[in-house]
Amino acid sequence: MKDQITIQDGQVLISEVPVKTLAQKCGTPLYIYDQPALEHRMEEFVSSFKSSQFDTTVIFASKAFSCLAIDRLCTKYGLGLDVVSGGELFTARKAGFDMNQVYFHGNNKSLQELNMALEYGVKTIIVDNLMEARLLASLSSKAERPVHALLRINPGIDAHTHKYIQTAYIDSKFGISILRKEEIHQLITTLEAAPNVVFDGFHAHIGSQIFEENAFMAEISKVCAFAREFEDEYGIKTRTLDFGGGFGVRYTDADAPIPIEEICKKIIAKTEEERKALNLSFSHVCIEPGRSIVAEAGYQLYTIGFLKETQNKKYVFIDGGMTDNIRPALYQADYDFDVATQMDKEKSEVVTVAGKCCESGDILGEGIALQPCSTGDLLLVHSTGAYGYSMANNYNKLPFAGVVFVDHGKIRWAIMPQSFEELIGRECLELEEV
Ligand code: PLP
Repeated sequence: MKDQITIQDGQVLISEVPVKTLAQKCGTPLYIYDQPALEHRMEEFVSSFKSSQFDTTVIFASKAFSCLAIDRLCTKYGLGLDVVSGGELFTARKAGFDMNQVYFHGNNKSLQELNMALEYGVKTIIVDNLMEARLLASLSSKAERPVHALLRINPGIDAHTHKYIQTAYIDSKFGISILRKEEIHQLITTLEAAPNVVFDGFHAHIGSQIFEENAFMAEISKVCAFAREFEDEYGIKTRTLDFGGGFGVRYTDADAPIPIEEICKKIIAKTEEERKALNLSFSHVCIEPGRSIVAEAGYQLYTIGFLKETQNKKYVFIDGGMTDNIRPALYQADYDFDVATQMDKEKSEVVTVAGKCCESGDILGEGIALQPCSTGDLLLVHSTGAYGYSMANNYNKLPFAGVVFVDHGKIRWAIMPQSFEELIGRECLELEEV
């Protein structure tokens, strides 16, 4: 983020490391995390999301950025971990994550993934649908210890965000709408009848990059009211409520996120209020931030290659693109850019930053103000720490870029860059018999 960097002799430093040093030692494209900023954000979440009336857990949604190093940091700060696939779960285990703190999500978990979760001893599975509940109930009979379940419900809140990242509308592919009470009852009955499953309560997640406090407040009211109704009608008590993630971050000056401490405290206050007003007895409340933990601590560094002018545009080409950050192409995400080696100049140019992929949509920034630059300069993109590396792909056979953590002058690899050998490592020159 812009106010975390320092500038010396026209060059950006991230946690005291000059970008030229990063490019020389690690190459570009490169993902960079400001480790103190990352740790500060984790600490801020955990210390702000506290109640005297119930236990609280801040669960990092690892889909935003999953790797061993980040899972380790989550452990250090006492965060839980949301995983949505066998791959994220495997990473958590390799990082030594306590399986009591792992929450396994997903709308279509495979048999293999559910078995893996039971074998690893994952404590909590967030069940998405009736078929999953039936499968889990039958698999759990072989489990060595009880597995806890939350049900993902869909409260139908309009979180005013881009439609691709809005998840709690009534026909969403995620969870079950609160309007389908009978189905929910059937699902919970199925879970409760299983010898080794403990039904803990409800989970909801209403979308992502949300700036409106009211959306979260409405979610809490609706979920609590639903828990009350459910207890009244069916006698099923809720022990845990999980309100999901979705806290907005600042990509550009147009974004005005609610400060973390403020939104955490408001969520706690509202939950305490509803708990009291509705006489609910839940004893554990969770949130699941992903983006808001990692986005603003992350940067991407590119080397500027060719420059090209067309009738109406000035292109600045970089040595990566939609392979390492697909968000602009996928949902028109905006970012802040700087020529990190020309910081003593004004942003006097209006340019289009384009990647090197064979796709016209491979544009990272359209019509953006930038310092004048030439080939060999370094381009820095701010707030790229979420859904960048985790959505990376090998289109055009571009290898995955590496990830470094920088910390007061120190540079350390979190993920090494992929080599060409690794890129084709699974390919068979002679077709292999299956
Ligand atoms: N929890 C669930 C169930 C999600 O689906 C997501 C994102 O898709 C998150 C948490 C994290 O959302 P965000 O990164 O916006 O905080």
